[in-house]
Amino acid sequence: MYANVLVQYGVKSLDHTFTYHIPDELVSSVEVGRKVSVPFGSQKINGFVVSITDKKQDIEVKDIIDVVTKELKLNDELLSLGRYIQEKTFCSLISAYQTMLPTSMKVSNSKEDYSLKKVYVYLNSDSALVDEYVHKHQAAKKQLEIIDILRNGECLKKDLNGASLRALLDNFVVCERVQEAYRINPLKEDEEAYSLNDEQEKAFKTIVNCLDESRVFLLHGITGSGKTEVYMHLISEVVKKGQCAIMLVPEISLTTQIVKRFYNRFGDDVAIFHSSLSDGEKYDEYKKIMNGEVHVVVGTRSAIFTPINDLGIIIIDEEHSSNYKQDNNPRYHALDMAKWRSDYHKCPVVLGSATPKLETMARAKKDVYTYLELKKRIGASVLPDVKIVDMSQEIRKRNLILSDELQVSIMDTLEKDEQVMLLINRRGYSTIMTCLSCGYTYKCPHCDISLTYHKSSNHLRCHYCGYTVIKSDRCPNCKEDGISDYGLGTEKVEEFIKKQYPSYRVVRMDTDTTSRKGSHEKIIRAIENHEYDIVIGTQMIAKGLDFKKVTLVGVINADESLNIPDFRSGENTFSLLAQVAGRAGRSDLPGKVIIQSFNPDNKTLNFVRTHDYIGNYAYEMSVRKMLKYPPYCYLISLKVSSKSYDDVSVEANKIAAYLRRVLTDETIILGPTTASPFKINNVYRFGIVLKYRKSEQIKEALEFLDKEYVLNKSITLDIDVDPLRI
Ligand code: ADP
Ligand code: ZN
Repeated sequence: MYANVLVQYGVKSLDHTFTYHIPDELVSSVEVGRKVSVPFGSQKINGFVVSITDKKQDIEVKDIIDVVTKELKLNDELLSLGRYIQEKTFCSLISAYQTMLPTSMKVSNSKEDYSLKKVYVYLNSDSALVDEYVHKHQAAKKQLEIIDILRNGECLKKDLNGASLRALLDNFVVCERVQEAYRINPLKEDEEAYSLNDEQEKAFKTIVNCLDESRVFLLHGITGSGKTEVYMHLISEVVKKGQCAIMLVPEISLTTQIVKRFYNRFGDDVAIFHSSLSDGEKYDEYKKIMNGEVHVVVGTRSAIFTPINDLGIIIIDEEHSSNYKQDNNPRYHALDMAKWRSDYHKCPVVLGSATPKLETMARAKKDVYTYLELKKRIGASVLPDVKIVDMSQEIRKRNLILSDELQVSIMDTLEKDEQVMLLINRRGYSTIMTCLSCGYTYKCPHCDISLTYHKSSNHLRCHYCGYTVIKSDRCPNCKEDGISDYGLGTEKVEEFIKKQYPSYRVVRMDTDTTSRKGSHEKIIRAIENHEYDIVIGTQMIAKGLDFKKVTLVGVINADESLNIPDFRSGENTFSLLAQVAGRAGRSDLPGKVIIQSFNPDNKTLNFVRTHDYIGNYAYEMSVRKMLKYPPYCYLISLKVSSKSYDDVSVEANKIAAYLRRVLTDETIILGPTTASPFKINNVYRFGIVLKYRKSEQIKEALEFLDKEYVLNKSITLDIDVDPLRI
């Protein structure tokens, strides 16, 4: 028997399949989808078996060395899903498989055993043998103690270790057994399911009636309307049928509270899956899923690839989140994967959001997706009052960070012993450092980007490549003491708030304060327990969290997000602000939101003020229609990059010219233009954008280009189908 083995080749992860002979002793364990180790030149490397044949090979082939990670394999479904990713995103098959698998399974990984083994010791059941040892050998005192302990039952070996135990094991008085254990053992507090209200019930019923159809539902429910409760009821139904469910959440900061609710409801029937688990933890969760030990998987983007055999429903919570798209190769979107799996398993996909993506809403309006709505908040809770404050007036009063109105509201809230949340969507202290004498601005030497000042470490840091320098008071250019900083970041706001409200407890939540494992959970728990009065954070605090005592939300600088030069910035700003506004007044305490802006008349902000998702949708759609952007067309973004400016500018022009020549249908080709930022980590970047409604020719043209450049050492061509930003 022979196996075709797909291996990773070179840094660009090219596909290469080689044929190997399966030696007799491995015939029973080598299967399609298994990870095997094979000889490759003088090395030993890993690969996936993609097919097996008994056709005699004309040339002499080498033997497979061994099967790696014996418990895990790519099943048929994932093998074909990988081919779909390859086709959809123009990546290599091997990188599709690599993306789908946890580290323990990746071919590049050579560590073989991730299982966590617990060793137990117990007394030999042959009591004559034990007694004889105790009497004849006059067991030492320590040994007698161990024997006594074990008379009450088995123990973990590590609790008893030592020379005495070893002697007992050597003499077969004590025996040991190895048990595979899991690292994550959820703590469960029982939580009753709520009975659904009328709106929830209606949505639930509609979906439950279609559990055997591959259909997409949009559950559009305002913040706090009880979407999660609907998900949990749906999952219960699916589990009752003996099937499994996948529920995706956008990021780990959200999962803490949701995961807890899922554990409480479903106990150890839940596996969690997200990027901050250790490799060993991921291995465990993956194995639980493969072995069919759990029915519910909760996780971030890559959890869509978990090897579930009988999938009954896929839920994508906060479907508008950009985290569902991977922003490096392969650039897949979890929704496309979900739809593919839903076709395969004949099961529904439920998309939930308070602010669905424009494309999603447009599909719902056209009945491509089934539209379901939750318009009311649960119980007595209502949506908060939203006010916009004109910061150009405040600047005259020297209110640079907080307006009068926000200051008064903060004091009010604190005096009532309630909590305040302040959003400032920039980490660090300030965003621009400039010399007042000569105008010098600190920029990253490797990127086309200003450095951000981080006061706590007194560093200037590039948020693209990580370049860091210590800040000096003197200008590196003119040597004068004129360095001044502009722009607001979370650190500066924190410093100001701490000074302004010295007797209150302040916490900052951004990627800098939550980089350590477990720190998210700690901060979230502390906020829940009201150990803090004021929470300052980036968009991280905006989403999904449910704190009953937060009644005031302040948006320090709403223009930050509006000013991003991208066709989605209006949509994204509405979504961010509506989400953060939704954190206020989630229980019976009424909530208030204050948005500070230099553009108080801005349309998007005013749609946020009136909680008018549909108004914002209609407005954005009219702009998209006029400017020909999705959902009125499809986009593909090409990025051409190189360390050599000259090379990249020549090649980008060649590529655009080629596309203009071969794409004779209605495709619009924009560019090449310099990408933003133009330089990252000493690599220069140009962008080309394709806009099209239908094109037969694009796929072939891009495949040609991809082949042309994949072996080019100097130029990288990156193809992003349905990009989130261009
Ligand atoms: P969403 O996900 O739409 O923001 P959640 O599902 O988090 O809303 O619900 C908001 C709060 O209301 C949660 O604390 C939840 O436990 C509670 N809740 C949800 N549904 C019900 C219900 N039918 N009866 C009572 N409380 C509910
Ligand atoms: Zn940099």
